[in-house]
Amino acid sequence: MKYLAEFRDGQTARSLLTEIKAITTRPWTIMEVCGGQTHAIIKSGINQLLPAEITLVHGPGCPVCVTPLEFIDKAIYLAGRPNTILTTFGDMLRVPGSSESLLSRQSEGADVRMVYSVLDAIRLARENPDKEIIFFAIGFETTAPGNGTALIQAKRLNLTNFSMLTCHVLVPPALRALLSGETGRVDGYLAAGHVCTITGLTDYKTLCHDFKVPIVVTGLEPVDILEGILHTIRQLEDGRANLENCYTRLVSDEGNLHAQTTLREVFKVCDRNWRGMGTIPESGLSIAEPFKQWNAEIKFDLSHISAEESGECIAGLILQGLKKPSQCLSFATDCTPQKPMGATMVSGEGACGAYYKYSRFLQSTTTT
Ligand code: SF4
Repeated sequence: MKYLAEFRDGQTARSLLTEIKAITTRPWTIMEVCGGQTHAIIKSGINQLLPAEITLVHGPGCPVCVTPLEFIDKAIYLAGRPNTILTTFGDMLRVPGSSESLLSRQSEGADVRMVYSVLDAIRLARENPDKEIIFFAIGFETTAPGNGTALIQAKRLNLTNFSMLTCHVLVPPALRALLSGETGRVDGYLAAGHVCTITGLTDYKTLCHDFKVPIVVTGLEPVDILEGILHTIRQLEDGRANLENCYTRLVSDEGNLHAQTTLREVFKVCDRNWRGMGTIPESGLSIAEPFKQWNAEIKFDLSHISAEESGECIAGLILQGLKKPSQCLSFATDCTPQKPMGATMVSGEGACGAYYKYSRFLQSTTTT
């Protein structure tokens, strides 16, 4: 399959590993920003095949994982309203809120439905004019344009029974927050290629310049990731700190201009609370004034809902690359995909879920 098989090719992966080993002379720590990259790394065993000098740590690029508890609680509250259909993507259903999840609320009788696209929610609104249809929208710059397009469509159709609870987040401000932190443990970053497909590269070049750190844009397949690691190590060994694009088959300098126009039309940049990481300035997108009629937070006044995160779950530290899932005392004991204590265990891009699925019997080789 073009653009897939060649990026999973074992011989190519072995050649890249050989090259990485040949040029690595001292310890380096690299963060893969995206949860999809984390899953690919753990699934393919890249973390075990790299030279001992290279440590991979996992970043905040899992949209389900970084959605704060209070938004889960808001969605659960909305699902309990009479005459309401709460729609969202499948990953969100099992994320624990303060006391329950959307799935448990569904089992109690609430009309919670998993959809594959926000357009399914629009269709439900057209088919059920006597009900309120609410779409719980989360995600990075990748999913926001599609949700923005749905809001434009809702406005065009004058769909008064449709609204959206949005918790969109932006990657570059989160990276800036990590780079500005005190920890200083990460030497280089693998940026998420699919996010850069939308945003382009300007913000990432600024981060390289401001923090003198190499950032390499990569895809989600094993060969993509190994190529990204090789380019990062080359820069680190040479003392360079540049933005490199290894995902040229999809990412251009300017990104997707049409998607960017939609984002500017429908959303405005806002401060956003990230689960386990606190409030990061200008790191979120909220619904702009011309579309406020479709903003569920305004329509149903959710200002009274707030939530305190549990102290037992260390997902916040994992999302900042400070801990690994296997260092959590609850990992694979009190916390499993069947009985999750945090979003990182249930999300398809969550680091805890990746460790549980692919390496929980290999803990001794994956904890460092
Ligand atoms: S294993 Fe469970 S409790 Fe521990 S950090 Fe991951 S999600 Fe949280």
